[in-house]
Amino acid sequence: MNKEGHVLNAVLLSIGLGYVFHPAGDVPTFRAIAEISVPVVLGALFPDVDTAFGKHRKTLHNLPVLALFYAWPVYFGNLHYVWIGVATHYVLDVVGSKRGIALFYPYTKEYGLPVGVAVSSERAGLVTVVISILEVAVIAGVVHLQLPIQDLTATVGGLL
Ligand SMILES: [Zn+2]
Repeated sequence: MNKEGHVLNAVLLSIGLGYVFHPAGDVPTFRAIAEISVPVVLGALFPDVDTAFGKHRKTLHNLPVLALFYAWPVYFGNLHYVWIGVATHYVLDVVGSKRGIALFYPYTKEYGLPVGVAVSSERAGLVTVVISILEVAVIAGVVHLQLPIQDLTATVGGLL
């Protein structure tokens, strides 16, 4: 996807996450959206820096780079939530566009799904919106189904 698509995806995802974690639509909801949207948008823009430095869809489109951004806040106490933007960039490239990404770079094979549209397609915007909604739905499912899963685990654990 192009920069426009990645920013749109990051903004929609941030709004969705705000409502997933604070569904009331009140001040905590909007505070959460504000808190995560800027780092998520920055993270979503970062991987395509490899169009200028390195090999595009390889050098900064891989799991080691994602792991770096995920671990960074643990060690240095900054760059929180940037990894979410990097992760959603990968999802959009893998699911939404025809070309894949080199997940295990420096192993250069690119992995993609047999779906998606060309980056230049008129439908790229629609595909981006649909993928963003699916991402929020999956995260909401994980977050809100977590409690029954824990209950089930405790119940099963109690029986054993
Ligand atoms: Zn990309």
